[in-house]
Amino acid sequence: MLNLFDKTRCKRCHNERQVRKCPRLDKNICWECCNSLRYDLSCPTSCPYSGKQEDSAKAPFPAFKADSQTESRNVNSLYIDIWLDKKQDALGGISPRLAATEDKKKLLDWLSSYQYPPQFPIDYLMTKLHLELASSTPISDPEVLVNRFMEAVIALDWQQLPAHSINTNPPAGCSERQIELLSSIPVLKRISTFKIIHSGTTEDGQTALVFLEINHRNDLSLVLSLRDKTWLIRQVILGSPKDFFLQNERYRAIAESLAKPDDAKAWDLLQEAFRIYPDSPDLYYYRGLYWQLVKETGKAKVDFFNSISLDNGFVPSFYHLALLNASDREYDEAILWFELLDKLQPKDPQNMNNLAACYAQTGQKSKAKTLWEEALKIQPGFEAARLNLEKLSAI
Ligand SMILES: [Zn+2]
Ligand SMILES: [Zn+2]
Repeated sequence: MLNLFDKTRCKRCHNERQVRKCPRLDKNICWECCNSLRYDLSCPTSCPYSGKQEDSAKAPFPAFKADSQTESRNVNSLYIDIWLDKKQDALGGISPRLAATEDKKKLLDWLSSYQYPPQFPIDYLMTKLHLELASSTPISDPEVLVNRFMEAVIALDWQQLPAHSINTNPPAGCSERQIELLSSIPVLKRISTFKIIHSGTTEDGQTALVFLEINHRNDLSLVLSLRDKTWLIRQVILGSPKDFFLQNERYRAIAESLAKPDDAKAWDLLQEAFRIYPDSPDLYYYRGLYWQLVKETGKAKVDFFNSISLDNGFVPSFYHLALLNASDREYDEAILWFELLDKLQPKDPQNMNNLAACYAQTGQKSKAKTLWEEALKIQPGFEAARLNLEKLSAI
């Protein structure tokens, strides 16, 4: 396989990115050109991308190796187009197209007797034969979502994006902020074309990584998460899958320079990382910590909120935003974030103690009392909670 990260154009169409060497042309070509050749099953079998027609009694369709669902769908559709007019022994020597007009049931029974790979475009086959597909719930496909997401980005239809993201039930104001942040990423505003180059899922099946080329030039990767059997967009990476795998290492370097503390170094690393990971909740969180370090509390609050807006489950940002507000005596705001944190991490004694303290500060004594008592039940030796409860009873 060629290096997918090499941006050289296909030697056949001179338009798309070359991704593999074609033994038929002896040229490096793109996947679309490969499909437009290999669907006729005349490629040398030594090529891993040649269609493999197993025993045709076992399956009426050949197997095509593909780097993405999009490519697979494309090559199978091309094959179906010629297959429709191929005479089939199983159909008494007539073509599927003719069989569809003569004996729909027989054709359908025959087709239903086979197992199809998950990415096989059965819907396309059925439409071409004017057959009804027994209704089945469509399986969520990362690339279908990527297409919708990218089309919305190209149309600058930012309002659509939160619905495709992991944030399915955002706290007040978070969706608006997410739109603001995404729509201010310069690269996203300048996308006119996209092509899926490669896609894959992690071993546990919970994360999908789709690698695209945008504007026939630049790399873009989308990270998706599986939630309740539905794929959702987690992150935009202005780079290749390599940058996805380097992400944690880069964040660790930022965390280390913040811990030292070396705020100048941390700032440089943050700037550098934001260019590749523009909607990373981690980066906004780390920048929030940076602002705290240089005593810019207002900016820190904004960045913790940004972080939460990009990932409504990003626990450390809730914690820091709540604490900052509490120390600024903004108790109502602190209560809001501590309560949300309590929903994300129920029955955490430390958080319950903080929340109870905010209740006490705002005169909600019975709420505070109940919470402290509950925290002490969970963690009987929790000294701070015990002292707070004593103080409250003394008032
Ligand atoms: Zn090409
Ligand atoms: Zn080939």
